[in-house]
Amino acid sequence: PQLRVSLTIHNFANRPSLTPSKGKASNALSLSQTLHFLKPWLLSEHQTVLLGWLCSVISVYSLSKIVSKVGNVSATISSIDAIKLRDEGLVLGGLVIARSVASYGQQAFLWEAALNAVYKLRIHVFDRILQRELGYFEGKDGVSSGDIAYRITAEASDIAETLYALLSTIIPSTLQLSAMMMRMLVISPVLSLISAAVIPCMALVVAFLGQKLSSISRKAHLSIATLSAYLNEVLPAILFVKANNAELCESSRFKRLARIDFFERLNKKRMKAVIPQIIQAIYFGVLFILCAGSIVVSRGSFNGCNLVSFVTSLLFLIEPIQDVGKAYNELRQGEPAIERLFDLTRFTDKEVEKPDAVDLDSVRGEIKFCNVSFEYSEDMSLVLNGLNIHIGAGEIVALVGPSGGGKTTLIKLLLRLYDPVSGCILIDNRDIQSIRLQSLRRHVSLVSQDITLFSGSVAENIGYTDLTAKIDMERVKYAAQAANADEFIRKLPEGYHTNIGPRGSTLSGGQRQRLAIARALYKNSSILILDEATSALDSKSELLLGQAVERLMKNHTVLIIAHRMETVRMANRVFLLDKGKLEELPRSTILGGHKDSLLSSGVVI
Ligand code: ADP
Ligand code: MG
Repeated sequence: PQLRVSLTIHNFANRPSLTPSKGKASNALSLSQTLHFLKPWLLSEHQTVLLGWLCSVISVYSLSKIVSKVGNVSATISSIDAIKLRDEGLVLGGLVIARSVASYGQQAFLWEAALNAVYKLRIHVFDRILQRELGYFEGKDGVSSGDIAYRITAEASDIAETLYALLSTIIPSTLQLSAMMMRMLVISPVLSLISAAVIPCMALVVAFLGQKLSSISRKAHLSIATLSAYLNEVLPAILFVKANNAELCESSRFKRLARIDFFERLNKKRMKAVIPQIIQAIYFGVLFILCAGSIVVSRGSFNGCNLVSFVTSLLFLIEPIQDVGKAYNELRQGEPAIERLFDLTRFTDKEVEKPDAVDLDSVRGEIKFCNVSFEYSEDMSLVLNGLNIHIGAGEIVALVGPSGGGKTTLIKLLLRLYDPVSGCILIDNRDIQSIRLQSLRRHVSLVSQDITLFSGSVAENIGYTDLTAKIDMERVKYAAQAANADEFIRKLPEGYHTNIGPRGSTLSGGQRQRLAIARALYKNSSILILDEATSALDSKSELLLGQAVERLMKNHTVLIIAHRMETVRMANRVFLLDKGKLEELPRSTILGGHKDSLLSSGVVI
């Protein structure tokens, strides 16, 4: 037993691991590219932004008024003029309320703009992801769904924070900056010029720090996305983990990834803590200007009172400069999130659909593959090699072959999830590349090898293919009966309205398959494909299903991929797909006594 345990752990330790360095790095965008990417989403919110800014102006204005009014009120108190005191008090109260309302308005409007922009951006990104070709998600370079989920959820929320920080700083800071600069210019143009030299120096420092923050932040995003991708992979496989005593191993893998994230995040927080301290160095600039000022004063062209006034303005200048610096850093820090979201949308649309592609109202179901060759990538061998097949409308055809022989691939090509490298595929003598994708996929029902069910009721799952219409319960029940699923569905606590849990996890393998078959029958397309869809059924269920398919699928073309003799026997013709080549087996092989050749090849049991 000891040996077995150590072997198990050894195997798990060697399991391909997700590491941040392996995560999909996004190409860094320049600041202007980042802003360019955000522009349309912000512009679409321009009205809300303008309202928010209007509130900002009112808020800044009322604050300055409040400050001067407080002075007036204190002057009135000393003169003990009750009526004047009341009036001044009322004005001051009004100003305070105005300031509160405006300040609320500023935050409410600007948050609305930022969140709305991100809401639209999210929808855009998700729609783009749905449009991406299957190869983006599959294969050795396929992008992990956990990573994508993290980008669209948490990182998109970070972008809202960034946008808010930008929007809320621009107006008040610019106002305060320009007001103070004007004052300084009036007091002393010479000292203003000297101060003007200090500001660009500070800007350079802030820009440099922003750059650093951006790259540190990028690493932090990658590490948390890796963590999310890891969880997304391991949690759905919890049964397998437990069955193999791999909790400890997975726990240490999680710990390692979490530790990396801890360091990256700490780095980022430290950097964020350092930046404001460095920005404080601006006070040295003030000191420098004070010295320069005292020289000017000593020459007599300027009095001390003016110098105090000038330096006060300068101090008031520091706050908006710091705010602008903070907003800039916020933007740099948000950049990786923006890049990674942008990265999901950045692909050139392949011209999947020809402009003159047609919609087919009805399809007879004749399928032809002419010299079709296909490879998943250039560095891999051909999966299908000059394949020819002709399936007549209404025929039931079985496809057998060793696993990995390319059967599922052939179906993917028929559905145009991939396009052949050479050759063409015809449905009803029409090249499928000239049929609109929506139309093509409407006429083909697929029960795939990996059953896909969603959380929701049984009825919703069976009626999934018809999302636009209201689910027709009569049709749902009819399809379920045909798929031999009605009996077990009725025994569920709420029958057809029972929630089947995430990915249909409350059902057995055979029940899941029957639901998937019922869903395909509900869709009622001219072409039905069962890709190893009956592998988990008992013989009786399979026999009943076979009879239902024969009855229901009269005038429908049915393509059955299977490994069991009983299933294969449903077919009129049988094809063997091996090493990318297709060969029709003589009918005698599937009838009674002559099945030995098929059995001996090992592809059918
Ligand atoms: P079958 O359904 O006959 O068992 P498949 O059509 O699923 O076989 O796979 C045929 C071959 O293509 C296999 O060698 C498999 O490794 C490879 N393959 C399948 N899907 C992909 C993919 N997305 N990227 C790269 N290779 C793939
Ligand atoms: Mg397969």
